[in-house]
Amino acid sequence: MKNMPSAELQKDFLERGFSRRDLGRLAALLTAGATLPFYNEPALAQLSDLGKLPADAVKINANENPLGPCAEAVEAMYGAIRIGGRYQYDKAAVLAGTLAEMEGLRPGYVTPYAGSSDPLLRTVTAFTSPQRSLVLADPTYEAPDRTARFVGAKVVRVPLTKDWAHDVRAMAQADPNAGLLYVCSPNNPTGTVTSHADIAYLLEHKPRGSVVLLDEAYIHFSDATPCSDLVAADKDLIILRTFSKIYGMAGLRAGAAMGRPDLLRKIEAYGANMFPATGMAGATASLKARNLVPERKKINQDNREDVLSFLAKHNFSFLPSVSNKFLVDVKRPGMEVVRAMAAERVYIGRVWPALPTHVRVTVGTREEMAKFKTAFLKVMA
Ligand code: PLP
Repeated sequence: MKNMPSAELQKDFLERGFSRRDLGRLAALLTAGATLPFYNEPALAQLSDLGKLPADAVKINANENPLGPCAEAVEAMYGAIRIGGRYQYDKAAVLAGTLAEMEGLRPGYVTPYAGSSDPLLRTVTAFTSPQRSLVLADPTYEAPDRTARFVGAKVVRVPLTKDWAHDVRAMAQADPNAGLLYVCSPNNPTGTVTSHADIAYLLEHKPRGSVVLLDEAYIHFSDATPCSDLVAADKDLIILRTFSKIYGMAGLRAGAAMGRPDLLRKIEAYGANMFPATGMAGATASLKARNLVPERKKINQDNREDVLSFLAKHNFSFLPSVSNKFLVDVKRPGMEVVRAMAAERVYIGRVWPALPTHVRVTVGTREEMAKFKTAFLKVMA
C-alpha cells in the first residue's frame, strides 16, 4: 500500500493492538498533511469557534487572555516577521532550551509545538488504541476524548471528587488496559486543582505500560505546584504547556511537551511539527518577561474574585475556581442561558453533559465582566 507508516511505526501499531486492516487508515491519517489532520475532522471542529461576532461583543467563551501578548513578545515577533522568508529553526531550539532551564529539565526533555492542542492529540494517538483505553475525569477538556474515539480507543470516565479534584485512586484502577491517563490541572472547565501528591500517586499506581498526560495549560493562574520535577525524575509522564492562556498568545501559536526523550520521540512521529517562528520567538520573550506571570495572575485573581463575590451576593452557586474561568449553576439547561447571553452580545462558554445546568465563563477584563454581570442578571431574572 502507498504511504504505509515506517516499519517501526507499524510494529508499534500492531503491538498496541491495531489490526493490519487498521494500518491503511492510520497511514492516511499520518500522511494527510504537514500537521495532524484532526483539525479537519468535523468531529473535532474547534470547540470555541463562534464565527464572526458583532464589534461590541464581549467574548468570554474560550479562556483567552484579553491582555494579549506582552510588549517584549510583540517586539520579538516583529523581529521574526522581518526575516520571515527563513524557517528560523533556531527559534524553536532556543524556546526548548529556555523552558527546560526554567523547569529544571535536562536538554532533550522539551519539544516545542505550535500550541498544546497538537501534542495533546499526538499523545492520545500514540498511547491509545482499540486495546489501550484513555482514562480521564468527568467533566474535563473534551479534546482527548474526541481524539481517542477517532482512533477507536475506549474512553473511561471517572467523576471528579467532591472537592472537584481528579479522583486519582479511582483513575488508577479504572481500567487495567489503560494506555493513557489524562489529567488537566487546573481542570477545564472546573478551574480546580489536582495536587502534586495526587499526580505522584497516579504515576506510582497506574496500570503497567501506561503513560500520564498532565495538561498544565492553566497552571500559572493558580498556586498549584507544577509537576516538572516528576518529568526530571524520568516518570512515565508528559506535561503540556501552552502560551495561549496567561501569556496571551492563543492566535499566535506556541506550546510545548515536556517528558522523557523516549516519550517525546514517540509523539514526534505523528506529524511534521512545523512551527511559526513568530510564536516561538514570542514564547521565549514571554518566558523571559520577569513580572508577566505574577502580574497577570493577580489581575485574573482580582477580576475573578470580584465576579464570584457578585454571584455570591446574588445567591448564585459556582465552583471554587482558581483559574481564568469558572462554572456557574444556572439551574436550567445551560445552553438556554448561553443562547440568551449571546442575544445580549455576551458570548460565554459551553456546557458539559456531566454538569448540564452549569455554564463556563472566562474571566475577562473588568469592563467585560461588568457587561457580563448586567447581562447575566437580566437573563437570570
Ligand atoms: N488544553 C486545555 C485544557 C485547554 O483548555 C486548551 C484550550 O482551551 C488547550 C489545551 C489547547 O490550547 P492551545 O492549542 O491553544 O494551546
